[in-house]
Amino acid sequence: MFRFFIILFFTLSSCSTNYPTNKWMENSSKPKILSTTAMIGALVSKIGQDEIDHLTLINGDLDPHSYELIKGDDEKIKRADVLFFNGLGLEHGASLHTALYAHPHGIALGPYINKENLIYVDGYIDPHLWMDMSLWKKIVDPIANELALCDPGHADLFYQRAEIVKQEIQATHEKIYNSLQHIPEQKRFLVSSHDAFRYFARAYLKTPEETTWEHRCSAPEGLSPEGAIGLGHIQEVLNYICAHEIHIIFPESNVNQDALKKIISVAHHKNLSLSLSKRPLFSDSLGPYDYLSMMEYNAGLLCECWEESTHASP
Ligand SMILES: [Zn+2]
Repeated sequence: MFRFFIILFFTLSSCSTNYPTNKWMENSSKPKILSTTAMIGALVSKIGQDEIDHLTLINGDLDPHSYELIKGDDEKIKRADVLFFNGLGLEHGASLHTALYAHPHGIALGPYINKENLIYVDGYIDPHLWMDMSLWKKIVDPIANELALCDPGHADLFYQRAEIVKQEIQATHEKIYNSLQHIPEQKRFLVSSHDAFRYFARAYLKTPEETTWEHRCSAPEGLSPEGAIGLGHIQEVLNYICAHEIHIIFPESNVNQDALKKIISVAHHKNLSLSLSKRPLFSDSLGPYDYLSMMEYNAGLLCECWEESTHASP
């Protein structure tokens, strides 16, 4: 049994996260599974592996908040035996939203997270659940259950892989928690492009004693990066930067950097020492990473930059 898990572990570590579209569209005996985002797709492909035909709809740095169906997406959605999506308002592009909720086997994964763990911003649910790995782990069992229903003959395999995926997520969660908590608490204040890091701040940046965590992050753009940015937002973030003596702010791979550059420009005009990280954080996409390594990369980048600014401080 132990040997079996070792083999399974290395297979999980090396499996691909996507599938060529043209092949996915061909007929096959395997269940056809479609995931909207790469963060969901990364888990689905690890649990389903070669027993499913899996495709991710929103790839690269495309914005899942505002994604609208493009030519060919209708057909992909129609052919999917199961369609996994985040829900909780993430995929709010009108054409995609309609198609997701009309699909006979569309599974919103966000609602599997207990309501008391959700974060609300101005009355809206923050959909960036994957930024807290202890929460994202909770969508593993619902995915495995759906795959097992689709293909009962491989149910045991899906459940075994799900257990390993949960263990991997938990191990990475603890690793990045420990590395970030090692950074002095007065340095753990994050400014990024949009409000994608609230779950991250609550899980990894606040001190164990803090009862609030909201002050641990700020961004000029709201929950969805297509929101308009006013001068008021810029000033708010600048006040935050001054209050917490922040020296570096972070762009995100899929968000325009104009607002952050404006903040840097105003800060320099006021003789504040502030720089823009040359490397971006990943928020709504995985870039070249899988889910686990994207989270490790984000934590590693923050640790590196905050450690540097700690050493540079008088
Ligand atoms: Zn986002």
